[in-house]
Amino acid sequence: MALVVQKYGGSSVADADAIKRVARRIVDTRNAGNDVVVTVSAMGDTTDELIDLSNAVSGAEHPREMDILLTAGERISMSLLAMAVRDLGVGAQSFTGPQAGVLTSGAYGRARIIDVTPGRLRSALDAGDVAIVAGFQGLNQDTQDIQTLGRGGSDTTAVALAAALEADVCEIYTDVDGVFSADPRIVPSARKLESITYEEMLDMAASGAKVLMPRCVEYARRFSVPIHVRSSFSGLTGTMVVEETQGDDMEDPIIAGVASDRSEAKITVIGVPDVPGSAARLFEAVATADVNIDMIVQNVSATHTGVTDISFTLPTAQVAAAKSALEADAEQIGFTELVVDDTIGKISLIGAGMRASSGVSAKFFAALRDAGINIEMISTSDIRISVVTRSELLDGAVRAVHTAFGLDSTQGEAVVYGGTGR
Ligand code: ADP
Ligand code: ASP
Ligand code: MG
Repeated sequence: MALVVQKYGGSSVADADAIKRVARRIVDTRNAGNDVVVTVSAMGDTTDELIDLSNAVSGAEHPREMDILLTAGERISMSLLAMAVRDLGVGAQSFTGPQAGVLTSGAYGRARIIDVTPGRLRSALDAGDVAIVAGFQGLNQDTQDIQTLGRGGSDTTAVALAAALEADVCEIYTDVDGVFSADPRIVPSARKLESITYEEMLDMAASGAKVLMPRCVEYARRFSVPIHVRSSFSGLTGTMVVEETQGDDMEDPIIAGVASDRSEAKITVIGVPDVPGSAARLFEAVATADVNIDMIVQNVSATHTGVTDISFTLPTAQVAAAKSALEADAEQIGFTELVVDDTIGKISLIGAGMRASSGVSAKFFAALRDAGINIEMISTSDIRISVVTRSELLDGAVRAVHTAFGLDSTQGEAVVYGGTGR
């Protein structure tokens, strides 16, 4: 008998029929002799709709109330799913994040799971029931407030439950057949990967491949939880996310995939004195606002002016906070102007094989050139190259790079079973 943790994303439980279909799958897994713990996302686009609703009610920031509001989405789906499973003759109990022992710390809206004390889940399993847990939420131990984990956070709930319960596998059910070499909504010829390493998946996720939340991959790597990403709409085997991919007879591919991200903006700080300490002051100011900086570029300063421009990218949602922190420190830093550009897009090429092969960057830039795409910023790691370009050019750039690296599938188009892609 195995212990299986399953996570069903919003598109897998979008309406009543979908919930009944998922219940069938859970019951089949239980009847095959497994212990089953399920975590579930809010139905369809519920989370986005709740955010829209809050914006219609109030223009101000209410982090604590927002978290309470958003956790409601997952409570709806968990209880409905438990009803549907019980209707199929299998015992089921649903639990909120706090009831399930998911403990968090950190800021509202992006809390981190620090521990899981799954006593009630174990009791439910001991009673022969399926335990169904609301994803994306936990209880802050210090404040006793309920918190959310950030967008896509149910993925992290699943892995944290799997780690705490020492599950045999953590299955992430979604609306595509696994992890592909690119987002199938952008590249229909993307190929499904049989397996991918935690390291590559982490870079894919952090570069915008939202099929898994980056934090979930970090957590899985830390606790060696094998993840199986697969579709809840088909019976196909999906993609295994593991420490090391099983090299069959073929050599491991150099490139795992291409990812893209439109969620960032660029701030250019104009007229910064080109003297030691300027960058430190600037980024210290930004750090006080708890902003996550991604890429940084400093222009070469013209010797006669003694000033330079520094550009950096950050999540669009954090632009206002970064701007006010910089403006509050304007005199200390000594810049003349701040320019915000929220029409950028980032494309990233990811693959552990880059370490051992040359010419990857040249091929990447050549593909972008041939597609007529101008590059605004570049950053690299040993397994990733990312560039910033215009947002409207991003999808074309992804397709061009995907083809240039020979990633297109020869086995027909990837299927997108559901979801609105929102
Ligand atoms: P869920 O509601 O199941 O959590 P998400 O919408 O969060 O689903 O994630 C699944 C989506 O991720 C897919 O529909 C797909 O558009 C997108 N995606 C982006 N990059 C990839 C990739 N490399 N492989 C598979 N899916 C990807
Ligand atoms: N419902 C949350 C979201 O939309 C969490 C999740 O789906 O994983 O981000
Ligand atoms: Mg998701």
